Amino acid sequence: MSAQVRELLGDHAELRARSAAMANDPECWRCGHEIAVAAGEVANIVIERNPTTGDIIVHYAHSGCSSSQVVEGDASRSAMWEKATDLNFTAALRSARPRLAMLIESRNPFMLVAGGLDGVTQSLSSRGLVSVRTPLSAATAPKLDNAWACWIDAGDLIIADGPGEILRYDGMSPEFIRALKHDRALLLLAAADFGLEAPDPARIDIVLATGGAVGGIVKYRD
Ligand SMILES: [Zn+2]
Repeated sequence: MSAQVRELLGDHAELRARSAAMANDPECWRCGHEIAVAAGEVANIVIERNPTTGDIIVHYAHSGCSSSQVVEGDASRSAMWEKATDLNFTAALRSARPRLAMLIESRNPFMLVAGGLDGVTQSLSSRGLVSVRTPLSAATAPKLDNAWACWIDAGDLIIADGPGEILRYDGMSPEFIRALKHDRALLLLAAADFGLEAPDPARIDIVLATGGAVGGIVKYRD
């Protein structure tokens, strides 16, 4: 990894990049073919930087196709950069006594913005979630502003900040609903690279320990 790439990715650059790449075998930035990361193939990191906003998109490349490098993006291709703030989520629920936790992540783990957070976590951060560095098993996340709340509507879980519904999930299990009503609170955690397609508690805790997640406690209301 070049020093320039390392500097842009910040602390724990290699850990972050590796876990993001492992989410699924990425396509090569240069040739478009899949890089078999899961099978041990090395992926170099190419960072495309928006010269206007400083946002970055992390690409991967076969080592024969490109070295790790920083390239200047075309800021006029605005649609591509808007994708970085596209609010698409995958979600998983994890019972982390004493807290009921809900984990969310962007469906696009390769989109990062300046500062190391992806568009989704940055958007949630601007709504009041704060950086969480504590392993989930001992989470002591801050309580969110009173405007935040969650409730159950016709079996769906709704999470809102004030009047704006930001998340709605269907298919909540009766156990989850019972636990939520009992706890009266939900620990909401968001990160780009939790790896929720194949949840692994150790990996989730690594993301939390390295400051890659934002979170807060959302009050339940009837
Ligand atoms: Zn290639």
